[in-house]
Amino acid sequence: MNVISLSSTQDRNFVAQVEKESGQSVSQCYQCGNCTAGCPYTSVYDIPVHQVMRLLQAGQKQTLLSCRSIWLCASCQSCTTRCPNNIDVAHVMDVLRHMARREGHATEYGVKSFVDSFLASVERNGRAFEMGLLVSYILKTGKFWTDVDLAPKMLPKNKLSPFPHKVKNPEAIAKIFERFRQEGHK
Ligand code: SF4
Ligand code: SF4
Repeated sequence: MNVISLSSTQDRNFVAQVEKESGQSVSQCYQCGNCTAGCPYTSVYDIPVHQVMRLLQAGQKQTLLSCRSIWLCASCQSCTTRCPNNIDVAHVMDVLRHMARREGHATEYGVKSFVDSFLASVERNGRAFEMGLLVSYILKTGKFWTDVDLAPKMLPKNKLSPFPHKVKNPEAIAKIFERFRQEGHK
């Protein structure tokens, strides 16, 4: 069991920052556990989502930004729909993941690599180009045999086109990414 010294590790600025970025009132969580009960990823989380909320209330920045759970969260919104206090818990998880990125934490490197490859593909092509995404992910992670067993099923259905599909105005989508960066996001 990990013992955390709250008095020496509490960071109130962190709580205020998460509340500002998420628009959620963290103090309203009363630890009913409904979010964890509905979370499909609890079995692989290192910190269940209700404990993420509790550690957040206690300003435990380092513990949260370096945990695996925020990267494994699928943004399925189940926690949000179950919260009796209408806290958008999924959005809080998103904000924690963004903060972790900004501060150089990527506890689940494979997840970050996939997201980076996906976003680069959408920026470049206006939508995801599956074959390019696959190659980029493999090059980033060195996982050459990931999902290779799916290829025989996907190829005959033309799900792995060698060229990107065209969209009408890819420049408009590239501008969204440009604006996002101009606002200081990563
Ligand atoms: S959004 Fe994330 S934390 Fe919430 S239930 Fe889904 S996987 Fe779990
Ligand atoms: S469901 Fe809402 S109130 Fe209950 S533990 Fe989760 S965040 Fe807190």
